[in-house]
Amino acid sequence: MQSHLPDSRAAAAALDTHDPLAAFRARFYLPEGVIYLDGNSLGPLPLEAQRRLAQVIAAEWGDGLIRSWNAAGWIALPQRIGDKLARLLGAQPGEVVAGDSTSINLFKALAAALTLRPDRRVIVSERDNFPTDLYMAQGLIELLGGGYTLRLAAADEIADAIGADTAVVMLTHVNYRTGRMHDMAEVTQRAQACGALTIWDLAHSAGAVPVDLNGAQADFAVGCGYKYLNGGPGAPAFIFVAQRHQADFRQPLAGWMGHAHPFAFEPDYRPAPGIARALCGTPPVLSLAALECGVDIALEAPMAMVRAKSLALTDLFIAQVEPRCAAHGLRLVTPREPDRRGSQVCFAHPDAFPIMQALIARGVIGDFRAPDILRFGFAPLYLRYVDVWDAAHILAEVLELRTWDRPEFHRRGRVT
Ligand SMILES: *Cc1c(COP(=O)(O)O)cnc(C)c1O
Repeated sequence: MQSHLPDSRAAAAALDTHDPLAAFRARFYLPEGVIYLDGNSLGPLPLEAQRRLAQVIAAEWGDGLIRSWNAAGWIALPQRIGDKLARLLGAQPGEVVAGDSTSINLFKALAAALTLRPDRRVIVSERDNFPTDLYMAQGLIELLGGGYTLRLAAADEIADAIGADTAVVMLTHVNYRTGRMHDMAEVTQRAQACGALTIWDLAHSAGAVPVDLNGAQADFAVGCGYKYLNGGPGAPAFIFVAQRHQADFRQPLAGWMGHAHPFAFEPDYRPAPGIARALCGTPPVLSLAALECGVDIALEAPMAMVRAKSLALTDLFIAQVEPRCAAHGLRLVTPREPDRRGSQVCFAHPDAFPIMQALIARGVIGDFRAPDILRFGFAPLYLRYVDVWDAAHILAEVLELRTWDRPEFHRRGRVT
């Protein structure tokens, strides 16, 4: 892989000239002077979302008022976007629905999974999973009276942690901190061989790496709309329930939008027959409208091309950063093997926080993840090879000149 990497800025620019995804960059608003390596935290604004939101606000909300629930198809947005996401994730129409947050969808999936395995009391997850995933499991266990155990294992030891007592294996496909990717099919098979169900969190996968939920026989999945799907800040998330589980899928957030007949206003809850039973309350129309624009762009880009470019960008970044920065204490924590890597590159450094602040001041936006991680996300739809080249060299300069060691780069805001 590395031998094909560009070894000069001009060679990187030549790759951009022949990049089959190059035209996608013009679909986004990217501020001048910024190299954006944080699309895995908050994707940039699709120009279409700006236009579409203006139209939804003026025509559908402004003029249409409440009539727009039917006339503009607002009520169908969660399913319509869900069906589009299904195409991106290797699922069937009717297996995915958009809405709520990843945390809330995880709660629903986890509660439903425990109900489906009433004789088992263990939830297996990764110790370094994204905290909200672990918190939601802890909260649910408490709500259920504490009779369950959350068994945490290192990424390499997940298979051994699954046993005959395991109700559900809840994992994030691509780790938020290391960028390490699990083999979804292999882990799912192992879980199911033990009689357990799987919940995959696709927060750092959807729109970034190939996902084949049906191919892997996944049971449930959740994921995020505001990262690689470019759905906007706080965009609705999504939930996948495999067709074979839908009739038995009972989730406790039994809101009226998950009812078989929401507008019959019956006193008793009866779940909708299909994926709609995973819904809870009224859909956030403006947010869904923005999300749909991001999803539409993702669907236009062939995933094989996205993956190939993602690996080329991450390889290039590693190849340019490592030799220049290792002596300054930067240590790669992302797997070198392409098939074990998501679309991000992370380095550990004791001064990761001020280094990232200094980088941001130079226009290279990535993020810091406590306690010591510099995280860089590579979104192939709008990043160029020259951007990656420049970012690597700016990072090397910041370390070499120690520009990060100024007081202003040590100050922390509420969001880091
Ligand atoms: C980003 C992310 C979330 C975010 O959850 P919210 O409910 O949207 O705040 C959850 N899980 C993982 C693994 C994430 O990376």
